[in-house]
Amino acid sequence: MATYVSNVTLFDGRSSRSKAGVLIADGVVEWVGAHARAPRTARAAEPIDGRGKTLTPGLIDCHVHLCYDGSADFAAEARALTSDAVAALKVLRNAEENLRAGVTTVRDLGGRGSSVCDVAAAIERGEFRGPRMLAAGRALTITGGHGGSVGFAREVDGPDGVRLAVREEIRAGATAIKLIATGGVLTPGITADFTAFTQEELDAAVEEAHSWGRVVGAHAIGPEGIVQAVRAGVDSVEHGSMMDAAGARLMKERGTFHVPTISALRGIVDHADEVPAYAVEKATAVTDLAREAFRRSVRTGVKVACGTDAGTPFNPHGNATEELVRMVEWGMTPLQAMRAATSSAAELLRLPDVGAIRPGAAADLVLYDADPLEEIDAVRKPSAVWKAGELVAGAPP
Ligand SMILES: [Zn+2]
Repeated sequence: MATYVSNVTLFDGRSSRSKAGVLIADGVVEWVGAHARAPRTARAAEPIDGRGKTLTPGLIDCHVHLCYDGSADFAAEARALTSDAVAALKVLRNAEENLRAGVTTVRDLGGRGSSVCDVAAAIERGEFRGPRMLAAGRALTITGGHGGSVGFAREVDGPDGVRLAVREEIRAGATAIKLIATGGVLTPGITADFTAFTQEELDAAVEEAHSWGRVVGAHAIGPEGIVQAVRAGVDSVEHGSMMDAAGARLMKERGTFHVPTISALRGIVDHADEVPAYAVEKATAVTDLAREAFRRSVRTGVKVACGTDAGTPFNPHGNATEELVRMVEWGMTPLQAMRAATSSAAELLRLPDVGAIRPGAAADLVLYDADPLEEIDAVRKPSAVWKAGELVAGAPP
């Protein structure tokens, strides 16, 4: 059965127009154009009156941790996760939260064992409901590095060790690779800006991952770690909180994406009385720098993709909507923010069928009662969400 949305304001992932028509059939977008020029086949389709409403591509969150729920003490929650079965159940429930928020594609950047990869495969086979997923399995960190002691990263050293770890994660089902290039906020005892892997280790990891066609994201907060990761050729710098002018220029030159994860910092600093003090101290120390880095990216023309770091304290799954609001608060236009969560995110993840509404693209769609390009808060209330043409949340008018 085909569906035709008439007279709708359409954001196609790049730009916006009014009085558009969109024909969906067999899980893909079949036709897009001016409603007045709708093809004959649209008349036979199930009609949705789009007047006064806005249709966008399904949103993309390039940075989530589906094994974790976002409780106040991340390290405690992560250490308490001692069973793959429990991890898989959490992944499944958290994955589905994304659909309700209009998020139809996510990239998981670190969890327990291969739990996320296994659930992603089950969703892809159609056995469970959830967003499209790329999953990194376990992140790679140096011995004693960020994430190792809390269990979402495996400790590896030396170019050969790192290369082997990339191969092993891919063998276990990883469809993305995550490198921890610096210290982090949520591991006690390590400063956030500490430079972790050597240049040789990063080079080996990226070369190996790319030879398998896997997208590489590097957790990098300190300026030196950022530059090393970009030189190694990572596809995205995650957080990038202390990125300086030289780092931004290099990222612009190399086409490296910045995934700012504003929600990760805000979740911690806005709940300073509940989150452990070591995390509050580190997050507070980098928040102003992170805002500067974000503005620098926007100003310099660094490509920015939306990512939340959902699963970290008070950063629940489906939080890409809040991330969009925060990106606008920090200085993006609503159009720039919406691109970051659609076409730009799809480019980073090398998923050409999502993040756009054009003939042949997957019918991953969100309908809103108000226009997010006029008032970004509108993303908080999707009225209907489709994945591959199937209604997965809400109800059309
Ligand atoms: Zn993360």
